[in-house]
Amino acid sequence: MLRVYGVWFLTSLRYLLSVRDIMMAMLHHCSIPLARVAVRPSPRTRAAISFATASSPRATPQSQVLLGLSENDLQKLAIDFGQQGFRGKQLYHLIYKRKVRDIQEFVQVPLAFRNELEEAGWKVGRSPIFNKVVATDGTIKLLLKLEDNRLIETVGIPVEDDKGSVRLTACVSSQVGCPLRCSFCATGKGGFSRNLRSHEIVEQVLAIEEVFKRRVSNVVFMGMGEPMLNLKAVLEAHHCLNKDIQIGQRMMTISTVGVPNTIKKLASHKLQSTLAVSLHAPNQKLRETIVPSAKSYPLDALMKDCKEYFQETNRRVSFEYALLAGINDSVDNAVELAKLLHEYGSGYHVNLIPFNPIEGSEFRRPYRKAVQAFVNALESAKITTSVRQTRGLDANAACGQLRNNFQKNPLVTDSDNLESQLPNMDLAVTS
Ligand code: SF4
Repeated sequence: MLRVYGVWFLTSLRYLLSVRDIMMAMLHHCSIPLARVAVRPSPRTRAAISFATASSPRATPQSQVLLGLSENDLQKLAIDFGQQGFRGKQLYHLIYKRKVRDIQEFVQVPLAFRNELEEAGWKVGRSPIFNKVVATDGTIKLLLKLEDNRLIETVGIPVEDDKGSVRLTACVSSQVGCPLRCSFCATGKGGFSRNLRSHEIVEQVLAIEEVFKRRVSNVVFMGMGEPMLNLKAVLEAHHCLNKDIQIGQRMMTISTVGVPNTIKKLASHKLQSTLAVSLHAPNQKLRETIVPSAKSYPLDALMKDCKEYFQETNRRVSFEYALLAGINDSVDNAVELAKLLHEYGSGYHVNLIPFNPIEGSEFRRPYRKAVQAFVNALESAKITTSVRQTRGLDANAACGQLRNNFQKNPLVTDSDNLESQLPNMDLAVTS
């Protein structure tokens, strides 16, 4: 009976959908085009895409982008368009080495091919720089305007070492806003809109290289959003940054405040990059007041996952700790933190971040003396510690602050309630 219904359903479906539309549906599940005909959306499909983008606040823009495709993918794409394979190599060079923003600027490529790519809905995948703020220490914060008019922040931080050579770190966002709402964070206060697509992460690095006119040497996934809630796109971006933009895996850091079941997933990829876990408190009770999402991921479980991450990857987790005056910055807190870390292994590193003041926050930055006392307590318990230098304070340093100034409307649209975001967070973790 089921087979009879199956045959009837398929026959009906054949009348309902054109072959082209079926190919389009398949295309949405492929990273590269199947054939030239497949990359041309029918007017019906186009209408459906623009409807989905316009009507749903969480919808991700659907245009097909070249950024993120490998050299092989681009060669296949060129062949699909009836070109010779070397045209794909040209595209690769133009996108990743020359950092060209627009298909019509691919002047080495025949005009007809450029036009065909555009007619088929392809774009390079680069967003305009909407705003740029330069801090006195040379840090530059950029606002990129995405295809759906959302704004994201990305920061370029130049650091000169003792020998005078300059390292350029890109701090990239992984989501538009963030659903986790850590109490001290401007991004969390601005609400959550959607996950970034992988090319929207990669393009932040290219924008920083363009503005600084030099190569990015380090990437930290510490901008707006929780990378582990968008792990699939983060891993794709990480791959592209490593293979195509040639930033060493060890030069990249993925940070997380902790999302259940994701550290194990990340470990299975055996990356050589650093995993930085934001603790911000030495015990569960205090942590829940600073990081509300900690309620669904107890500190013990998080620390156990960090220990297993090291066993699986041989890469030690590094811990981030934002110091909030009078909240979590006492010597007792430091002693408790050291005890916690020793309980779950050895050789851990703690990076202390004296709080960056943000508008409307009740938290204060601790005095230098309190920071030093915290460092001393950790170091005397044999925990290596560093204090993150504050950069770009005069450029709206706190992550999310600049975007919030421009995008005044709250991003959380269907509910203001954190619990209601959690099922969406789980769905987002697909890797
Ligand atoms: S600190 Fe990170 S995880 Fe927490 S709200 Fe801000 S962006 Fe989200």
